[in-house]
Amino acid sequence: MAHRKNYTKYVPRAPANKPDKEALQNEALLFFTLRTDSEETMLKPSEEFCYLVSEKWWDAYETYLGYNEIIEEKPLKKNFGQKYPGPINEDIISDQEKAYKFSSNFEQYQYLSTYLRPKALENESYVFVDSKLWEHIYGLYGGKPIKRPLRHDFSSPTCDDLQKSHIIFLTHSRIKELASDPKTKNNKLQTIFGGFKNIQFHETWKMKDLMIFLSSLLEAETGIPNWNLKVWRLNNYLFLDDFWKSLENFLEQFPEQDKFLIEAKEFTNERFDGINLSRLLKNEYYLVVEAKEDENEGFYFDELKLTSQDIKELQGYCEYCSEKDTILSWTCLCKEAFYCSEKCKYKDLPFHHYICDIAYESDSDNEELQEIKIEEFGYDRGLKNLGNTCYMNSVLQAFKKTKVPEDLFYNNTYLKCIKEKREENKQEEDNKFLLSKKFSKLMKKLSIYDKEPLAPWSWKQTFAFYFPNVKKN
Ligand SMILES: [Zn+2]
Ligand SMILES: [Zn+2]
Repeated sequence: MAHRKNYTKYVPRAPANKPDKEALQNEALLFFTLRTDSEETMLKPSEEFCYLVSEKWWDAYETYLGYNEIIEEKPLKKNFGQKYPGPINEDIISDQEKAYKFSSNFEQYQYLSTYLRPKALENESYVFVDSKLWEHIYGLYGGKPIKRPLRHDFSSPTCDDLQKSHIIFLTHSRIKELASDPKTKNNKLQTIFGGFKNIQFHETWKMKDLMIFLSSLLEAETGIPNWNLKVWRLNNYLFLDDFWKSLENFLEQFPEQDKFLIEAKEFTNERFDGINLSRLLKNEYYLVVEAKEDENEGFYFDELKLTSQDIKELQGYCEYCSEKDTILSWTCLCKEAFYCSEKCKYKDLPFHHYICDIAYESDSDNEELQEIKIEEFGYDRGLKNLGNTCYMNSVLQAFKKTKVPEDLFYNNTYLKCIKEKREENKQEEDNKFLLSKKFSKLMKKLSIYDKEPLAPWSWKQTFAFYFPNVKKN
């Protein structure tokens, strides 16, 4: 087990009575057996869950028992039996106040409502054990149970961290109720709906798992089965206040006006089939669930499409670095992801490409295909270091000084070569085609005068995409 020293919160409490030496030694031996069993049990593919134990507590417990000395048959240290380890996990659990409270008839998913504090990491802040070992120490010391899914697709089992989002459910009956109640107008919607709550999902769930989970959650809450759902992810430039205001406007005009243009992207199973939620969601995303009981009723929410004018003036939080209230002057070609800087845009590519087919084609193609004339390409533009890219930059600069760019790229001769290759074997050459286009563009950019050095993010990320052993960021 890895150990980490910088714990902050946890302070072991003193025992009520002086500990019984023999009892502690017996406990250490029992702990040894349970620990060995636990490691074995968790290797079994049938084992689906584990329990987390705070590393800090674990260390304190071992010291208290004189565990290492007893197992290695060494003399006990002075601190043996001195500091009672106290309740388990209090240092790694986070404040549950804003969390979604699952009703008691949603029992099979109750464990999803336990939140870890931010930055609590496997093998640094906690270890994981089987239920038998957990029940033993929990029975003795108490504390907070943290149950997590166990994954077996690696050489050793790992415990899944959960995907965290904020969620709000807007059911049709609730919408109607709020729209017909004149008091709504004078109340803040947040207080009526309870606002967004934290919710957690399995990282490895797919859209269809999420849909099943959300509709069974609604069924547990309302007793009504077979919900029809649409899941929306609010756009990252949207301020929550603006969202509440537009929702309030919609309610005021309901039912005369029954369309709500939501500034969000719809998460559908068709679009994201087979992709893990950890690829689709980042922690702290805002999800809105429109839920209708009646199959024959239409959905009220529709996507608000942005105009290019809107996009120019966007301000919000950056999709990559989550910087708040910033000007979002960089966007993907899909116009669905917005960033504060070029760096953030390219650093987000390995994530964004899971939800965007054109993520790697984010440079303008017209410019790409233009030839550049001999008079234009005399310049040697500098390259910015993107972090460990100075070797790559040197190779690029050296390559640029050869005859190849002039023969192949400035005049777009490479396009002919690719065309011939593609006719022979289309599929395989497609990837190389995109990479060559990127490379040609890079060579051109490096040859044309610009006093600013170039940051080759686009090239580097595309390259890393096709050659995954190259680090993406
Ligand atoms: Zn950013
Ligand atoms: Zn995109």
